[in-house]
Amino acid sequence: MSEVRVAFRGSLDDFVPPEMRDRWFAWPLDRRTSIKDLLESLGPPHTEIGAIVVNGRSVGFEYIVREGDRIEVLPASDGGEAEALLRPPLPLPPSFVLDTHLGKLVTYLRLLGFDAVYERNADDDQLALVSAHEGRVLLTRDRGLLKRGIVTYGYYVREQDPERQTAEVLRRYRLAGHVTPFRRCARCNTPTVPVRKEDVLDRLEPKTRLYYDEFRECPRCAGIYWKGSHYDRMLDLIGRLTGDA
Ligand SMILES: [Zn+2]
Repeated sequence: MSEVRVAFRGSLDDFVPPEMRDRWFAWPLDRRTSIKDLLESLGPPHTEIGAIVVNGRSVGFEYIVREGDRIEVLPASDGGEAEALLRPPLPLPPSFVLDTHLGKLVTYLRLLGFDAVYERNADDDQLALVSAHEGRVLLTRDRGLLKRGIVTYGYYVREQDPERQTAEVLRRYRLAGHVTPFRRCARCNTPTVPVRKEDVLDRLEPKTRLYYDEFRECPRCAGIYWKGSHYDRMLDLIGRLTGDA
């Protein structure tokens, strides 16, 4: 039977069984297949792949696999220039769309200033479409969703704890230098605007009134934001986890 040889590198380990991690292994080639379909059948969604090197040459997802090919697969965090063969470069900072089980992560990303859309009742079709049409990175813990062909940008969130998930996303997309605290409403994703303290005084708790002077307001839902203790704790944690926030 004809076969190919495959090696997954780096964080792609998270999607394959131990005997396939970071080593060459033989795999039967029993049909005509694109390299995208072959690699996804082995585990990793295409969104997690940063470069595919076949017999020493980088190829795109449409490459048709041939008998005897040696296929080395690098993670998206490590694709280098070859990633351009797989997808156009992301704008920095990227914007996001989050799966329904990531409701806390979306709050943190918005508080840190990142454009992140979230709909509690969104189904997989809607998530994939928003990601495709708006060029947003789809964040999810659903590997199947990331294998959809129309999803160009996506990331499989490994962590379960929302604060650790936030740090994970900051690391993956190198966002530490792009944090702009409270520039975006945590509730509705609308950019906030500065507001005078005296204009919101009647809506503040006594302690907030006493200890804080800088406020921002959401023009859409009228949420008020200031750099309180919760925010300090979050930045501390992210600083510790990323080492550079
Ligand atoms: Zn709002």
